[in-house]
Amino acid sequence: MPNPTVAYFYDPDVGNFHYGPGHPMKPQRITLTHSLVLHYGLHDKMKVYRPYQATERDMCRFHSDDYIQFLSSVSPQNVQEYTKFLSVYNVGEDCPVFDGLFDFCKMYTGASLEGAVKLNNNQCDIAVNWSGGLHHAKKYEASGFCYVNDIVIAILELLKYHPRVLYIDIDIHHGDGVQEAFYLTDRVMCVSFHKYGQLFFPGTGDMYEVGAESGRYYSVNVPLLTGIDDASYMQIFKPIISNVMEYYKPTAVVLQCGADSLGSDRLGCFNLSIKGHGECVEYVKSFNLPLLVLGGGGYTKRNVARCWTYETAVLLDEQISNELPFNEYWKYFGPDFSLNPEIFTKQDNQNTRQYLDNIKVTVLENLKMLAAAPSVQMQDIPSDLLSLENTEEPDPDVRNSVEDIDKRIEPSNEFYDGDKDNDKENEGFLDV
Ligand SMILES: [Zn+2]
Repeated sequence: MPNPTVAYFYDPDVGNFHYGPGHPMKPQRITLTHSLVLHYGLHDKMKVYRPYQATERDMCRFHSDDYIQFLSSVSPQNVQEYTKFLSVYNVGEDCPVFDGLFDFCKMYTGASLEGAVKLNNNQCDIAVNWSGGLHHAKKYEASGFCYVNDIVIAILELLKYHPRVLYIDIDIHHGDGVQEAFYLTDRVMCVSFHKYGQLFFPGTGDMYEVGAESGRYYSVNVPLLTGIDDASYMQIFKPIISNVMEYYKPTAVVLQCGADSLGSDRLGCFNLSIKGHGECVEYVKSFNLPLLVLGGGGYTKRNVARCWTYETAVLLDEQISNELPFNEYWKYFGPDFSLNPEIFTKQDNQNTRQYLDNIKVTVLENLKMLAAAPSVQMQDIPSDLLSLENTEEPDPDVRNSVEDIDKRIEPSNEFYDGDKDNDKENEGFLDV
Protein backbone atom coordinates (compact mmCIF):
# COMPACT_ATOMS: atom_id res chain seq x y z
CA MET A 1 0.00 0.00 0.00
CA PRO A 2 2.05 2.98 -1.16
CA ASN A 3 1.28 6.16 0.77
CA PRO A 4 -1.36 4.85 3.11
CA THR A 5 -3.74 7.34 4.66
CA VAL A 6 -2.71 7.63 8.29
CA ALA A 7 -5.00 9.13 10.95
CA TYR A 8 -3.09 10.22 14.06
CA PHE A 9 -4.87 10.99 17.32
CA TYR A 10 -3.34 13.32 19.88
CA ASP A 11 -4.87 15.28 22.73
CA PRO A 12 -2.57 18.10 23.87
CA ASP A 13 -3.72 17.54 27.48
CA VAL A 14 -2.90 13.83 27.65
CA GLY A 15 0.73 14.37 28.69
CA ASN A 16 -0.21 16.58 31.63
CA PHE A 17 -1.50 13.81 33.89
CA HIS A 18 0.71 12.48 36.66
CA TYR A 19 0.42 9.05 38.25
CA GLY A 20 2.32 10.43 41.26
CA PRO A 21 5.89 10.98 42.41
CA GLY A 22 8.20 8.11 41.60
CA HIS A 23 5.60 6.24 39.53
CA PRO A 24 7.26 4.79 36.41
CA MET A 25 4.27 5.46 34.11
CA LYS A 26 4.72 8.99 32.77
CA PRO A 27 2.07 10.27 30.36
CA GLN A 28 4.52 13.04 29.44
CA ARG A 29 6.21 10.53 27.09
CA ILE A 30 3.25 11.13 24.73
CA THR A 31 4.00 14.87 24.67
CA LEU A 32 7.68 14.12 23.95
CA THR A 33 6.68 11.78 21.14
CA HIS A 34 4.35 14.37 19.65
CA SER A 35 7.04 17.04 19.82
CA LEU A 36 9.44 14.86 17.79
CA VAL A 37 6.68 13.98 15.33
CA LEU A 38 6.02 17.71 14.78
CA HIS A 39 9.67 18.71 14.50
CA TYR A 40 10.33 15.98 11.94
CA GLY A 41 7.38 17.41 9.98
CA LEU A 42 5.52 14.09 10.03
CA HIS A 43 2.22 15.82 10.89
CA ASP A 44 2.18 17.21 7.34
CA LYS A 45 1.98 13.69 5.93
CA MET A 46 -1.01 12.50 7.94
CA LYS A 47 -4.41 13.56 9.21
CA VAL A 48 -4.01 14.79 12.78
CA TYR A 49 -7.09 14.69 15.03
CA ARG A 50 -7.80 15.86 18.52
CA PRO A 51 -9.68 12.74 19.59
CA TYR A 52 -13.17 12.14 20.78
CA GLN A 53 -13.45 11.46 24.53
CA ALA A 54 -15.02 8.15 25.46
CA THR A 55 -18.13 8.23 27.63
CA GLU A 56 -19.06 5.93 30.48
CA ARG A 57 -21.42 4.22 28.09
CA ASP A 58 -18.57 3.48 25.66
CA MET A 59 -16.47 2.06 28.50
CA CYS A 60 -19.30 -0.10 29.79
CA ARG A 61 -19.32 -2.00 26.52
CA PHE A 62 -16.58 -4.00 28.21
CA HIS A 63 -16.28 -2.93 31.83
CA SER A 64 -18.82 -3.42 34.58
CA ASP A 65 -21.05 -0.44 35.37
CA ASP A 66 -20.02 -0.36 39.02
CA TYR A 67 -16.30 -0.28 38.20
CA ILE A 68 -16.71 2.59 35.73
CA GLN A 69 -18.97 4.41 38.20
CA PHE A 70 -16.20 4.08 40.78
CA LEU A 71 -13.49 5.35 38.37
CA SER A 72 -15.60 8.34 37.41
CA SER A 73 -16.28 9.30 41.05
CA VAL A 74 -13.05 8.69 42.96
CA SER A 75 -10.47 11.47 43.32
CA PRO A 76 -7.49 12.24 45.57
CA GLN A 77 -9.81 14.59 47.51
CA ASN A 78 -12.51 12.01 48.31
CA VAL A 79 -10.48 8.79 48.27
CA GLN A 80 -11.01 8.29 52.05
CA GLU A 81 -14.69 7.69 51.35
CA TYR A 82 -13.78 4.90 48.95
CA THR A 83 -11.19 2.97 50.96
CA LYS A 84 -13.22 -0.24 51.03
CA PHE A 85 -13.49 -0.18 47.22
CA LEU A 86 -9.81 0.32 46.50
CA SER A 87 -8.91 -3.33 46.98
CA VAL A 88 -12.08 -4.47 45.19
CA TYR A 89 -11.06 -2.57 42.04
CA ASN A 90 -7.30 -3.04 42.56
CA VAL A 91 -6.75 0.71 42.73
CA GLY A 92 -4.16 2.26 45.03
CA GLU A 93 -0.56 1.23 44.44
CA ASP A 94 0.33 0.28 40.84
CA CYS A 95 -2.86 1.96 39.69
CA PRO A 96 -3.10 5.05 41.90
CA VAL A 97 -5.95 7.54 42.18
CA PHE A 98 -4.57 10.76 40.69
CA ASP A 99 -6.02 14.12 39.69
CA GLY A 100 -7.98 13.85 36.47
CA LEU A 101 -7.76 10.04 36.35
CA PHE A 102 -11.11 9.61 34.62
CA ASP A 103 -10.41 12.41 32.12
CA PHE A 104 -7.18 10.59 31.25
CA CYS A 105 -9.16 7.36 30.68
CA LYS A 106 -11.69 9.19 28.49
CA MET A 107 -8.91 10.64 26.32
CA TYR A 108 -6.86 7.55 25.61
CA THR A 109 -9.94 5.35 25.23
CA GLY A 110 -11.76 7.82 22.99
CA ALA A 111 -8.76 8.03 20.67
CA SER A 112 -8.58 4.24 20.18
CA LEU A 113 -12.33 4.05 19.68
CA GLU A 114 -12.36 6.85 17.13
CA GLY A 115 -9.44 5.15 15.35
CA ALA A 116 -11.57 2.00 15.03
CA VAL A 117 -14.54 4.01 13.74
CA LYS A 118 -12.39 5.74 11.11
CA LEU A 119 -10.99 2.38 9.97
CA ASN A 120 -14.51 0.95 9.79
CA ASN A 121 -15.64 3.88 7.65
CA ASN A 122 -12.60 3.64 5.37
CA GLN A 123 -11.55 7.15 6.35
CA CYS A 124 -7.99 5.91 6.85
CA ASP A 125 -5.83 2.85 6.20
CA ILE A 126 -3.92 3.16 9.47
CA ALA A 127 -4.99 4.80 12.74
CA VAL A 128 -2.40 5.69 15.41
CA ASN A 129 -2.98 6.40 19.11
CA TRP A 130 0.25 6.41 21.09
CA SER A 131 -1.67 7.23 24.30
CA GLY A 132 -3.61 3.95 24.08
CA GLY A 133 -2.69 0.28 24.38
CA LEU A 134 -3.49 -0.20 28.09
CA HIS A 135 -3.70 -3.95 27.76
CA HIS A 136 -3.86 -5.10 31.41
CA ALA A 137 -7.19 -3.50 32.42
CA LYS A 138 -9.87 -6.08 33.27
CA LYS A 139 -13.64 -6.02 33.09
CA TYR A 140 -13.98 -5.46 36.83
CA GLU A 141 -10.64 -3.99 37.86
CA ALA A 142 -7.54 -1.96 37.14
CA SER A 143 -4.21 -3.70 36.66
CA GLY A 144 -0.61 -2.85 35.78
CA PHE A 145 -1.04 0.95 35.38
CA CYS A 146 -4.15 0.35 33.21
CA TYR A 147 -7.69 1.36 34.18
CA VAL A 148 -9.89 1.21 31.08
CA ASN A 149 -9.02 -1.30 28.35
CA ASP A 150 -9.13 0.89 25.25
CA ILE A 151 -7.93 -2.05 23.14
CA VAL A 152 -10.90 -4.28 23.96
CA ILE A 153 -13.30 -1.39 23.37
CA ALA A 154 -11.72 -0.56 19.99
CA ILE A 155 -11.75 -4.23 18.93
CA LEU A 156 -15.47 -4.49 19.82
CA GLU A 157 -16.05 -1.58 17.48
CA LEU A 158 -14.00 -3.20 14.69
CA LEU A 159 -16.04 -6.41 15.12
CA LYS A 160 -19.15 -4.59 13.89
CA TYR A 161 -17.65 -4.55 10.42
CA HIS A 162 -14.86 -7.11 10.57
CA PRO A 163 -15.43 -10.84 10.90
CA ARG A 164 -11.91 -11.53 12.17
CA VAL A 165 -9.64 -9.12 14.08
CA LEU A 166 -6.03 -9.97 14.82
CA TYR A 167 -4.46 -8.47 17.95
CA ILE A 168 -0.65 -8.42 18.14
CA ASP A 169 1.16 -7.33 21.31
CA ILE A 170 4.92 -6.57 21.41
CA ASP A 171 4.96 -4.99 24.88
CA ILE A 172 7.36 -6.88 27.21
CA HIS A 173 4.36 -7.83 29.36
CA HIS A 174 1.69 -10.37 28.44
CA GLY A 175 -1.45 -8.79 26.91
CA ASP A 176 -3.59 -10.48 29.56
CA GLY A 177 -6.58 -8.11 29.64
CA VAL A 178 -7.21 -8.42 25.91
CA GLN A 179 -6.61 -12.17 25.85
CA GLU A 180 -9.03 -12.70 28.75
CA ALA A 181 -11.76 -10.63 27.09
CA PHE A 182 -11.65 -12.69 23.89
CA TYR A 183 -10.52 -16.05 25.31
CA LEU A 184 -13.68 -17.88 24.25
CA THR A 185 -14.16 -16.51 20.75
CA ASP A 186 -12.71 -17.20 17.31
CA ARG A 187 -13.51 -13.69 16.10
CA VAL A 188 -10.40 -12.22 17.68
CA MET A 189 -6.98 -13.86 17.62
CA CYS A 190 -4.64 -12.55 20.33
CA VAL A 191 -0.93 -13.02 19.69
CA SER A 192 1.37 -11.82 22.50
CA PHE A 193 5.19 -11.86 22.58
CA HIS A 194 6.41 -11.25 26.13
CA LYS A 195 8.82 -12.05 28.92
CA TYR A 196 7.57 -15.04 30.89
CA GLY A 197 8.84 -16.64 34.08
CA GLN A 198 10.56 -15.65 37.32
CA LEU A 199 7.28 -14.09 38.47
CA PHE A 200 7.48 -11.41 35.80
CA PHE A 201 4.24 -9.37 35.70
CA PRO A 202 1.43 -10.36 35.13
CA GLY A 203 2.45 -14.01 35.39
CA THR A 204 0.21 -15.34 32.60
CA GLY A 205 0.99 -16.09 28.95
CA ASP A 206 2.68 -19.45 28.80
CA MET A 207 2.69 -21.37 25.54
CA TYR A 208 -0.12 -23.66 26.61
CA GLU A 209 -2.69 -20.89 27.12
CA VAL A 210 -4.40 -21.34 23.77
CA GLY A 211 -7.99 -20.23 24.35
CA ALA A 212 -11.06 -22.29 25.22
CA GLU A 213 -14.41 -23.37 23.76
CA SER A 214 -14.93 -21.61 20.39
CA GLY A 215 -11.72 -19.71 21.08
CA ARG A 216 -9.50 -22.78 21.38
CA TYR A 217 -6.26 -22.11 19.46
CA TYR A 218 -7.22 -18.46 18.96
CA SER A 219 -4.93 -17.27 21.77
CA VAL A 220 -1.28 -17.48 20.79
CA ASN A 221 1.40 -16.93 23.42
CA VAL A 222 5.11 -16.59 22.81
CA PRO A 223 6.92 -16.69 26.19
CA LEU A 224 10.42 -15.23 25.91
CA LEU A 225 13.38 -15.08 28.26
CA THR A 226 15.43 -12.14 29.48
CA GLY A 227 17.70 -10.23 27.12
CA ILE A 228 16.17 -11.02 23.72
CA ASP A 229 17.84 -9.02 20.92
CA ASP A 230 16.67 -7.95 17.46
CA ALA A 231 17.97 -11.02 15.62
CA SER A 232 16.36 -13.52 18.02
CA TYR A 233 13.08 -11.58 18.09
CA MET A 234 12.86 -11.56 14.29
CA GLN A 235 13.66 -15.28 14.20
CA ILE A 236 10.37 -15.91 15.99
CA PHE A 237 8.18 -12.87 15.25
CA LYS A 238 8.15 -13.04 11.45
CA PRO A 239 7.42 -16.75 10.96
CA ILE A 240 4.67 -16.69 13.60
CA ILE A 241 2.99 -13.58 12.20
CA SER A 242 3.21 -14.83 8.60
CA ASN A 243 1.60 -18.13 9.63
CA VAL A 244 -1.07 -16.35 11.66
CA MET A 245 -1.92 -14.25 8.62
CA GLU A 246 -2.10 -17.32 6.41
CA TYR A 247 -4.18 -19.46 8.75
CA TYR A 248 -6.41 -16.84 10.35
CA LYS A 249 -6.88 -14.40 7.45
CA PRO A 250 -7.76 -11.40 9.61
CA THR A 251 -9.69 -8.54 8.04
CA ALA A 252 -8.27 -5.94 10.47
CA VAL A 253 -5.24 -5.80 12.76
CA VAL A 254 -4.63 -4.06 16.10
CA LEU A 255 -0.96 -3.70 17.03
CA GLN A 256 0.05 -2.81 20.59
CA CYS A 257 3.57 -1.33 20.46
CA GLY A 258 4.59 -1.25 24.13
CA ALA A 259 8.11 0.19 24.18
CA ASP A 260 9.17 -1.49 27.42
CA SER A 261 10.57 -4.28 25.23
CA LEU A 262 13.41 -1.91 24.24
CA GLY A 263 16.83 -2.31 25.81
CA SER A 264 17.54 0.08 28.71
CA ASP A 265 13.87 0.27 29.73
CA ARG A 266 13.41 1.24 33.37
CA LEU A 267 11.19 -1.79 34.05
CA GLY A 268 11.93 -4.13 31.15
CA CYS A 269 14.73 -6.66 30.59
CA PHE A 270 14.75 -7.16 26.82
CA ASN A 271 17.36 -5.77 24.42
CA LEU A 272 15.45 -4.66 21.34
CA SER A 273 16.75 -1.60 19.51
CA ILE A 274 14.41 1.05 18.16
CA LYS A 275 15.07 -0.27 14.63
CA GLY A 276 14.28 -3.83 15.75
CA HIS A 277 11.05 -2.77 17.47
CA GLY A 278 10.14 -0.74 14.37
CA GLU A 279 10.83 -3.73 12.14
CA CYS A 280 7.89 -5.50 13.80
CA VAL A 281 5.66 -2.55 12.93
CA GLU A 282 6.98 -2.49 9.37
CA TYR A 283 6.37 -6.22 8.99
CA VAL A 284 2.77 -6.03 10.26
CA LYS A 285 2.13 -3.03 8.00
CA SER A 286 3.40 -5.00 4.97
CA PHE A 287 0.23 -7.14 5.02
CA ASN A 288 -1.77 -4.05 3.96
CA LEU A 289 -4.73 -4.67 6.24
CA PRO A 290 -6.68 -1.96 8.08
CA LEU A 291 -4.39 -1.31 11.04
CA LEU A 292 -4.92 0.29 14.46
CA VAL A 293 -1.55 1.09 16.05
CA LEU A 294 -1.43 1.73 19.80
CA GLY A 295 1.17 2.53 22.45
CA GLY A 296 1.41 0.65 25.74
CA GLY A 297 4.22 0.28 28.26
CA GLY A 298 7.54 2.10 28.00
CA TYR A 299 9.30 3.58 31.02
CA THR A 300 12.46 5.26 29.75
CA LYS A 301 10.58 8.14 28.25
CA ARG A 302 13.28 9.52 25.92
CA ASN A 303 13.47 6.12 24.22
CA VAL A 304 9.70 5.70 24.13
CA ALA A 305 9.47 9.03 22.28
CA ARG A 306 12.22 8.02 19.85
CA CYS A 307 10.65 4.65 19.21
CA TRP A 308 7.09 5.84 18.55
CA THR A 309 8.34 8.72 16.41
CA TYR A 310 10.38 6.30 14.31
CA GLU A 311 7.36 3.99 14.03
CA THR A 312 5.14 6.89 12.95
CA ALA A 313 7.63 7.47 10.11
CA VAL A 314 7.63 3.73 9.27
CA LEU A 315 3.82 3.77 9.00
CA LEU A 316 4.04 6.77 6.65
CA ASP A 317 6.81 5.19 4.52
CA GLU A 318 8.94 8.23 5.36
CA GLN A 319 12.69 8.17 5.94
CA ILE A 320 13.75 10.45 8.78
CA SER A 321 17.21 11.60 9.81
CA ASN A 322 19.03 9.94 12.68
CA GLU A 323 19.87 13.42 13.88
CA LEU A 324 17.01 14.63 16.09
CA PRO A 325 15.47 17.97 15.14
CA PHE A 326 15.86 20.68 17.77
CA ASN A 327 12.81 20.71 20.05
CA GLU A 328 11.63 22.03 23.39
CA TYR A 329 12.62 18.80 25.15
CA TRP A 330 16.15 18.79 23.71
CA LYS A 331 17.83 18.18 27.07
CA TYR A 332 16.16 14.79 27.42
CA PHE A 333 17.89 13.41 24.33
CA GLY A 334 21.55 14.01 25.16
CA PRO A 335 24.33 13.26 24.95
CA ASP A 336 23.90 11.81 21.45
CA PHE A 337 20.73 13.67 20.29
CA SER A 338 20.10 10.86 17.84
CA LEU A 339 16.99 8.90 16.92
CA ASN A 340 18.63 5.49 17.19
CA PRO A 341 21.14 5.69 20.02
CA GLU A 342 23.14 2.66 20.91
CA ILE A 343 21.06 0.65 23.36
CA PHE A 344 23.18 -0.59 26.21
CA THR A 345 22.82 -4.24 27.00
CA LYS A 346 21.89 -4.79 30.61
CA GLN A 347 21.22 -8.49 30.25
CA ASP A 348 22.66 -11.37 28.24
CA ASN A 349 20.32 -12.97 25.73
CA GLN A 350 19.04 -16.13 27.43
CA ASN A 351 16.97 -17.17 24.41
CA THR A 352 18.94 -19.84 22.61
CA ARG A 353 18.13 -20.71 19.02
CA GLN A 354 16.88 -24.08 20.22
CA TYR A 355 14.60 -22.53 22.86
CA LEU A 356 13.03 -20.26 20.25
CA ASP A 357 12.73 -23.06 17.69
CA ASN A 358 10.84 -25.18 20.22
CA ILE A 359 8.32 -22.41 20.87
CA LYS A 360 7.95 -21.79 17.17
CA VAL A 361 7.23 -25.46 16.43
CA THR A 362 4.55 -25.63 19.14
CA VAL A 363 2.88 -22.39 18.07
CA LEU A 364 2.87 -23.36 14.40
CA GLU A 365 1.40 -26.78 15.23
CA ASN A 366 -1.37 -25.10 17.18
CA LEU A 367 -2.10 -22.81 14.24
CA LYS A 368 -2.55 -25.84 12.02
CA MET A 369 -5.32 -26.97 14.38
CA LEU A 370 -7.43 -24.01 13.31
CA ALA A 371 -10.32 -25.01 11.17
CA ALA A 372 -10.61 -23.14 7.90
CA ALA A 373 -10.86 -19.43 8.67
CA PRO A 374 -14.24 -18.99 10.37
CA SER A 375 -16.77 -17.01 8.49
CA VAL A 376 -19.22 -14.91 10.38
CA GLN A 377 -22.58 -14.12 8.97
CA MET A 378 -22.72 -10.38 9.22
CA GLN A 379 -26.09 -9.04 10.18
CA ASP A 380 -27.39 -5.50 10.14
CA ILE A 381 -24.60 -3.24 11.23
CA PRO A 382 -25.41 -1.61 14.57
CA SER A 383 -24.88 2.11 14.96
CA ASP A 384 -21.33 3.23 15.69
CA LEU A 385 -20.25 2.82 19.28
CA LEU A 386 -19.22 6.42 19.73
CA SER A 387 -21.85 8.31 21.64
CA LEU A 388 -20.68 11.18 19.45
CA GLU A 389 -22.60 9.63 16.57
CA ASN A 390 -25.74 9.45 18.65
CA THR A 391 -25.84 12.94 20.06
CA GLU A 392 -28.37 14.15 17.54
CA GLU A 393 -31.62 13.69 19.35
CA PRO A 394 -34.26 12.23 17.09
CA ASP A 395 -37.25 14.49 16.53
CA PRO A 396 -39.80 13.32 19.15
CA ASP A 397 -42.61 13.97 16.68
CA VAL A 398 -41.20 11.59 14.14
CA ARG A 399 -41.65 7.94 14.85
CA ASN A 400 -38.81 5.61 14.11
CA SER A 401 -39.56 3.20 11.34
CA VAL A 402 -39.31 -0.46 12.25
CA GLU A 403 -36.28 -0.62 10.00
CA ASP A 404 -34.53 2.09 12.00
CA ILE A 405 -35.25 0.32 15.24
CA ASP A 406 -34.01 -2.97 13.85
CA LYS A 407 -30.74 -1.37 12.87
CA ARG A 408 -30.13 -0.35 16.46
CA ILE A 409 -30.68 -3.80 17.86
CA GLU A 410 -27.48 -5.69 18.22
CA PRO A 411 -27.58 -9.44 17.77
CA SER A 412 -27.31 -10.84 21.28
CA ASN A 413 -24.84 -13.50 20.29
CA GLU A 414 -22.38 -11.08 18.77
CA PHE A 415 -22.03 -8.14 21.06
CA TYR A 416 -21.43 -7.90 24.72
CA ASP A 417 -24.44 -6.19 26.19
CA GLY A 418 -23.99 -4.56 29.57
CA ASP A 419 -25.77 -6.34 32.40
CA LYS A 420 -27.70 -8.64 30.13
CA ASP A 421 -24.63 -10.25 28.65
CA ASN A 422 -24.59 -13.96 28.23
CA ASP A 423 -20.92 -14.45 28.96
CA LYS A 424 -19.31 -16.15 31.92
CA GLU A 425 -20.47 -13.54 34.35
CA ASN A 426 -17.63 -13.63 36.82
CA GLU A 427 -14.70 -14.24 34.57
CA GLY A 428 -14.52 -11.19 32.35
CA PHE A 429 -14.79 -13.12 29.08
CA LEU A 430 -16.64 -11.58 26.17
CA ASP A 431 -18.96 -13.62 24.03
CA VAL A 432 -18.61 -12.25 20.53
ZN1 LIG B 1 4.48 -3.47 29.54
